Amino acid sequence: MKNLKKVMGMALILALSACTAAPKNGLPDTSKTSSPQTEVREETTDVVVIGAGGAGLTAAYFVKQGGKDVVLLEKRAMTGGNTALAGFFAANSTKMQEAMGDTYTQQDQIDFLMETEGTDPDFARLFAENSGLTAEWAVDTLGIEVTRVNGREIYAVDEKGTKFPAQFVSKLTALNQQIGVDLRTECPAVSLIIEDGKITGVEAEDAQGKVLFHAQAVILASGGFAANQEMLQEYVPEWAGGMTSNTAATTGDGVRMAQAIGAAVSNMDQLTLNPTFYDDQGTTMSVSGVRYEGGILVDPTGKRFANEMANYTEVSEAEKAIGSHAFAIMDATSLACNPKYAVEAESIEELAEKIGVDPATLTQTVTNYQRYYDNQKDEEFGRTDMRSRIDTAPFYAVPVFPGVHHTRGGVSIDLRSQVLNTEGNPIPGLYGAGEVTDNKLMGNDPVAAGITFGRLCAQSVLEDLQQK
Ligand SMILES: Cc1cc2nc3c(=O)[nH]c(=O)nc-3n(C[C@H](O)[C@H](O)[C@H](O)COP(=O)(O)OP(=O)(O)OC[C@H]3O[C@@H](n4cnc5c(N)ncnc54)[C@H](O)[C@@H]3O)c2cc1C
Repeated sequence: MKNLKKVMGMALILALSACTAAPKNGLPDTSKTSSPQTEVREETTDVVVIGAGGAGLTAAYFVKQGGKDVVLLEKRAMTGGNTALAGFFAANSTKMQEAMGDTYTQQDQIDFLMETEGTDPDFARLFAENSGLTAEWAVDTLGIEVTRVNGREIYAVDEKGTKFPAQFVSKLTALNQQIGVDLRTECPAVSLIIEDGKITGVEAEDAQGKVLFHAQAVILASGGFAANQEMLQEYVPEWAGGMTSNTAATTGDGVRMAQAIGAAVSNMDQLTLNPTFYDDQGTTMSVSGVRYEGGILVDPTGKRFANEMANYTEVSEAEKAIGSHAFAIMDATSLACNPKYAVEAESIEELAEKIGVDPATLTQTVTNYQRYYDNQKDEEFGRTDMRSRIDTAPFYAVPVFPGVHHTRGGVSIDLRSQVLNTEGNPIPGLYGAGEVTDNKLMGNDPVAAGITFGRLCAQSVLEDLQQK
C-alpha cells in the first residue's frame, strides 16, 4: 500500500456520491452531492480487484506478478465464492488429458461451445485458445494432481475429497498472500469511483467504516446474481423466489455498481438451471449425481416427465412445468447422494407408499423403464445413458426441486475484458472477468472461463498501465 491517511469525509464523500448519481451521457453526474459526516479512510494502490473467487484470485495473481500492487476485496470472511463449490475445470489439449489418453482438441471445445445458441464465436475461440494453457498453469503452479478426465472436463479430487476448483482457490489464496497481494476479507466493495469518465477507484466498507481505494484500474470479479431475488425478479421473474445452490454473497453487486456508472449489461435473462436441488433444512444442496449415476425422475403422480440426461436447463424447465417437486428414484446400484436425504424401502410399492405416490403408477413406471434399459431404448423420452435397471433393493427416493445454478449474463465486456458503456465503448479503467460479466459463452464452463478470462483480463490491465 503506497499511502494511508485518515480524513473527515466531507470532501471525499462528495466524489463518492457522484458514483450513484443519475447517468449523464452514459456516465454519472458528478455535480450532485450528499453530506454524511462519517469518517472515511483513503488508500492508494495500482489495481483493485473486487471478489476473491476463481476469476478474482487469478486476476490478482497475474497483476501482481506483472509488477503492480493489488488490493483484492472480498465480501465474505473466506475466499472462494461459488468456484469453491464446483466440480471440474474445462479445457482442451492439455498434457493432463494427453497423459490419460484423452484427446480433446481446441476445435472440439469450440464445437461444444458453439452448440449453445447465442454463443459468440470470437469469445468461444479466445476461451478455447487459452483454457488449456490456464489449466496447465493451475496444475503446475499450484501442484494440483489431476485424477480423472472426461473429454473437456478435468477433475482433481484429493485425499480429503476436495475437488479441483476448491483446491485451486485455497492454494491460490495462499500463494497470493505469499507474493504480496493485499487481500481484504469482510471488506465489500459498495461503489465505483469515477472522475472525468474514468474509473479511479472503489469505495468499500470494513469493520472500521468506509475506505476509499484509489487505483489506476479496477477489475470486477464479484460473481453472478443467482442469490439476489430482486434482480431475478427484474430479469427472470419466472425463476425468482426459488432455490439456488449459490453462496448468499452472489448478489450481483458488481453488476449493480457498474450499471450505476453507466455500464451496459447483456443476456441478463439467461440462466443455467439445475433440476436436482435438495432442500436440506433450508440449505440448498445440489445432488446432480442422482441423474448421472442412473436414477430416474418422476412427478408426484409417479410418472417420468423428461429425458433425465437432457441438459440442466431443459430438465429444469420440464420439472418446473409439473408445478411441484419431483422425486429421484434410485436403487442400491445407483444411489448417488447423501443417504440421509433419501427415503429407503425394500420394494418399489413400499417406496411409493412412503413418499405418497400411487404404488401402481410408480411400479408401472419402473417396469417400463426396466424394459427400456434391457432394449437400451427409451420409448418415452429418448434417454440414451441408462446406467441402472433400478431393480436391486433397497430402493431410494429423494425429493428434488429445480432452481438457479448460475447466471449467464452480466456486464458487457469486449475481447480485452474491458467493461463497455451503454454506447458500446470501453469505460476507461474498468475491467471484468467471471460470472459478473456476460462472456458470451452462454453459461458454458464457467469455472474455467472465469479463471481463463481472469488471466487474460490481468494481461489487458498490465498492457494498459504500461502505456501510461
Ligand atoms: C454448486 C455449484 C456447482 C458448480 N459446478 C460447476 C462445475 O463443475 N464446473 C463449472 O465450470 N462451473 C460450475 N459451477 C459454476 C461456477 O462455479 C461459477 O459460475 C464460477 O465459479 C464463478 O466464478 P467467479 O470467480 O466469477 O465468481 P465466484 O467464485 O462466485 O466469486 C465471486 C466472489 O466475489 C465476492 N463478492 C461478491 N460481492 C462482492 C463485493 N461487493 N465486494 C467484494 N467481494 C464480493 C463473493 O463473495 C465471491 O467470493 C457451479 C456452481 C455451483 C453453485
